[in-house]
This record gives sequence, C-alpha cells and structure tokens, in this order.
Amino acid sequence: MGTNKKIAVLSGKGGTGKTLVSVNLATAEANSYYVDCDVEEPNGHLYFNPQICEEKAVSVLIPKVNHELCTGCKECVNFCKFNALAFGEKVILFKEICHSCGGCALVCSVKAITETEKMVGIVNIGVSDQVKTVGGMMNTGEASGIPIIKNILEYIKDKSGYVFIDCPPGSACIVMESIKDADYCILVAEPTIFGAHNLAMVYELVRLFDKPCGVVLNKCTDGHNPSEEFCKEKSIEILVKIPFDMELGELNSNGKIAVRENYKNKELFYSLLTKVKEAVE
Ligand code: SF4
Ligand code: SF4
Repeated sequence: MGTNKKIAVLSGKGGTGKTLVSVNLATAEANSYYVDCDVEEPNGHLYFNPQICEEKAVSVLIPKVNHELCTGCKECVNFCKFNALAFGEKVILFKEICHSCGGCALVCSVKAITETEKMVGIVNIGVSDQVKTVGGMMNTGEASGIPIIKNILEYIKDKSGYVFIDCPPGSACIVMESIKDADYCILVAEPTIFGAHNLAMVYELVRLFDKPCGVVLNKCTDGHNPSEEFCKEKSIEILVKIPFDMELGELNSNGKIAVRENYKNKELFYSLLTKVKEAVE
C-alpha cells in the first residue's frame, strides 16, 4: 500500500483560480497526481490533455419493483425522503432523484423491491508528461456526483506521492466528500467582498473537518483586499498572493499551464508548493 499526501484545493465559487492553482502545483511537483473531483464540470483535462489509459463505468444500485408482488401499501413511498417514489396505479420510480439509499427495499414487507445497477458516469485515468491524471464525468441529469468522487478517491487511496485534488466549487456535500481524506486544504480567494464571503464559507467547512489550511489570494491588485483582511482577522496563513496579470489570465484561458510555459512569475507556484509540502510533512 502506497503512502500519499492529499492536498485539496477549494474555492467558494467557480472561476476563482482553483484549477489554475491545482494544475500548476501538480505540474511543479514531479510525479504527482492531479485529481479532478469537479465531476459536474470537469476542466482539468483541458489543461493536461492527458493520454487516457483506463476508463471505468461507475454505477449505483436503484430499486426495481416487482408489481406482481406489490400490495400497494405505499410504505416505500412514505419512506423515501427524496420523493423518488410515487404511487399512481402502481409504484413509480424517478431514477434521477433516487439517492440509492436502499431503504425502500428494506421497508417493503413483501420483498417486492430488489436492487438493480444504473450507470451514473465514468472515471478516467490518464497521463500528461510526469503528471498522472484522474477525473470523472457525471451523466447529465444525475442527482449526485458523489458515487463518482468515491470511486476516484478509492482509486487514489493506495497510490504514492503528492495528490492534488481539484474540488467542486462551493461548500455542499460533494465538496465535503472531496476533502474528507485530505491532509491539507488550500483555499483560493478573490480580492472582493463577495470573494471574502465565499472564502468564509469554505473556511467554515475545513474547520468543521478540522483540516489544516492556508489561503491563496488570487488576482491581487494594489487596492483593498477583503479576503486578505478576513485571513488576518481569523489568523489564517496566506500562502501566496498571485497578482492580477493579463499574461497569466491569457495562459489560463487558453488552457496552458503557467509553470510549463515558463511564465514570468512561475516561482510563485514553486514557492506555494514548498510551503504546502512543509505544512504536510
Ligand atoms: S412497500 Fe412494497 S408492497 Fe408496499 S407499495 Fe412499496 S413495493 Fe409495494
Ligand atoms: S433507494 Fe432510497 S432514495 Fe432511492 S427510491 Fe429507495 S428510498 Fe428513495
């Protein structure tokens, strides 16, 4: 069994620089893993353009009703907290909102409910130079990407080296799933009041999980930075301040990895990597 250090990169909303930080850290560290847990809108592959070595289907169990056995008691319908079951002339299942809890099969006293597999997405494993990539894609209309994230994290569990987890944006349960095994969390924040509000949300989440963390202040200008003030107020370590820079913005929007492209400020990412490694070792 390998030993690894998992660094989760989070932000309160999309477009803050979470993927920028994750892909550059994974590239700066030789022989690392880049893990894209944003399975609703994965974009790490646009930077790495990995050669895919393996693709796996991810499925969950959903109920299947035997209408011959069903007595119409509605116990299952009343039990389902997600309203995924209804009763018209017979029991109807809304597959997309079923959370695969398995409860309806347990409460059916005549055993009219069994479980059947449903595919919810895929996990792909690839390589791009020295970086190994792991990502997933949730099928359109699915209720939750959590089964895919669980599958990704299960795959990574016994791998060695540094693992950089590009988390989904926000602070919902899908983010909690992505960070629960992390050794360290990097919170990426923009220099606005809205940015500080989003930072406060993800900070609450990492505190809830009692994870060590530090902040990357992105798109910094000389002006007032509410996110920096929040860090000072809460005594949160500021790992690096990335200045607002057209060159970096252009590289990023073209799917280029700054440290691979010899970006003039690439040392910022190496210094961030050193700080994070010191924090987790
Ligand atoms: S609990 Fe079983 S018997 Fe009752 S309505 Fe549901 S499937 Fe039918
Ligand atoms: S498995 Fe759980 S979520 Fe799905 S229909 Fe049954 S009770 Fe509802």
